[in-house]
Amino acid sequence: MDVPTYSATNAPVPEGTIVIERASTAQDLGPKLARTTADVVRFLLTNGEMVTATQSLSDEMIKLFAAEIGAEIRLVDPGEEQEVELRKVLEFDDEDDDDIVATWPIRPPVITVMGHVDHGKTLLLDRIRSANVIEGEAGGITQHIGAYQVEKNGASLTFIDTPGHAAFTAMRARGADATDIVVLVVAADDGVMPQTLEALDHARAAEVPIIVAINKMDREGADPDKVMSQLAERGLIPEQWGGETMYVPLSAMTGDGIEDLLENLALIAEVEDLRATPEGRAAGSVLEAHLDIGRGPVATVLVERGTLRVGDPLVSGAAWGRVRALINDKGENVPEAGPSAPVQVLGLSEVAESGDGFIIAPSEKIASKVAETREHWHRLASLGRDASAAGGGAKLEDIFRQIQSGETATLNLIVKADVNGSLEAVIDSLKKLERDDVKLSFVLRGVGGISENDVQLAATSNATILGFNVRPDRKARELAEREKVEIRNYEIIYKLLEDIENAMLGLLSPDIEEVVTGDAEVREVFRVPRVGSIAGCMVLNGTVSRNSKVRFLREGTIIWKGELQSLRRFKDDVAEVASGFECGIGLSDFQDLKPGDIIETYEEREIPVT
Ligand code: GDP
Repeated sequence: MDVPTYSATNAPVPEGTIVIERASTAQDLGPKLARTTADVVRFLLTNGEMVTATQSLSDEMIKLFAAEIGAEIRLVDPGEEQEVELRKVLEFDDEDDDDIVATWPIRPPVITVMGHVDHGKTLLLDRIRSANVIEGEAGGITQHIGAYQVEKNGASLTFIDTPGHAAFTAMRARGADATDIVVLVVAADDGVMPQTLEALDHARAAEVPIIVAINKMDREGADPDKVMSQLAERGLIPEQWGGETMYVPLSAMTGDGIEDLLENLALIAEVEDLRATPEGRAAGSVLEAHLDIGRGPVATVLVERGTLRVGDPLVSGAAWGRVRALINDKGENVPEAGPSAPVQVLGLSEVAESGDGFIIAPSEKIASKVAETREHWHRLASLGRDASAAGGGAKLEDIFRQIQSGETATLNLIVKADVNGSLEAVIDSLKKLERDDVKLSFVLRGVGGISENDVQLAATSNATILGFNVRPDRKARELAEREKVEIRNYEIIYKLLEDIENAMLGLLSPDIEEVVTGDAEVREVFRVPRVGSIAGCMVLNGTVSRNSKVRFLREGTIIWKGELQSLRRFKDDVAEVASGFECGIGLSDFQDLKPGDIIETYEEREIPVT
């Protein structure tokens, strides 16, 4: 008869289902099940498994031990537990309770300006911003961070500052979700246009009040009545006609009517009675995110509730970090930001996704774990897509043949771009090109330079790589050549769309191939009086010649394009410098080079369509 050797083994196990992470160690597992690390190690040893206290255990070992002591467990993937915990934090029950909400302070409304291209959104936003600078304190607003706040009659108004471009519809639509009021801009001399209606649909979907700004009233041919009747047909009946929609005639050019608009916005906000608690952990959404040279990933967020503070552990999608600094729309460092305040957040691990929510986690550990898990799932999901894409799908050059054969063709694409905003714009615009007989499959989409991994993935999934404002590094380029992966680089979105559309029509234009002739790494930057900056470089590949075109790359992203000003070896001007040699490269108007940057020279050659 066995005598129990360890008294702990008989201790009652915790009640209910205990969540255990896969790959836990004996050290993690023991305490969760009211056992010591030694209990776990010894038990496994008696079952023929030799493990140390800090070694990851297999699912089988964990289940075996749990069964032995009669504990009920649920195995989860690492981070899943934290995700559950975080989700609990995310559920703000108080928001459903009107009595509680009524005790909260009033918060500024979040306003999005929408409308047809060229109807004056940008100018209107600029005008409102600068009108406020004159009215407001000294210092003025200097930063474009994607949103800004202005004061009107003692109340604050928050404006989302999204660009008015057709390709950015998707982001705008997302902006409307964080939005309380939509300003629909219609040019008085142009009337309702397709994007006016598109914007109207977005605003309706978000179920927010709409106020119409009839812009360009200074123009001859301005016809506000026509705008009102066009929109009344679509349900926006003007107040003066017995309806509920406010119409404000104005001119973003002269500034007339802007004050009216602001006053009416303040009025709508008052009626809406928007409230939020500044207490507790902050939550909100990401308006814009990009990789800033020098500052790392930067995200502009809009706080929806709570107060965001420097030092808080923030998580948004797969990005996380302890907030290193908060910068407001005036470019000032601020210690905290409350409801409806837009701020730039520094200190995140990677570029967040615009439109994603963010939350302050209970601890840094939970924040990182959650982000890590999401990243993991994200990757799994994209691998899954990859596998399915590899089965069918075609490259750009084959797509027309596939269409002609009568079957539904799928074009496999990997899209890399410099910032999230442009990535989304590219993806969304591409999606619009889909036809019944041609589908697009995005094997991978991401921010940053084109890497060897991207090329590898393209090779295995039969995809074409589209780069928008990014470049492949040398290794990626070499691999692409070996694997016959096509990389197409663009800097203009319409050019990209045109090419893809033409490919679908079998009209793929000859690509202007940029043949890289050489690259050099910047080792040190010298400032020479009256001459400017000289970069001390080492040529790494090929030859760098004086008359070729160049671009400067930092981590695969193009930071500048132009021509070389001068090329020197020691004190002599030279025509070219070969790989393995040092040289001095004169930079004309571009001054912001740093050690580690790559200067790439290239020639343009036309490659005929095969
Ligand atoms: P967006 O595409 O909607 O952002 O339009 P912009 O703000 O870029 O304006 C398009 C053009 O219309 C620009 O040339 C502006 O200067 C002009 N514009 C905008 N508002 C007015 C206005 O109230 N009056 C006049 N005359 N021109 C305007």
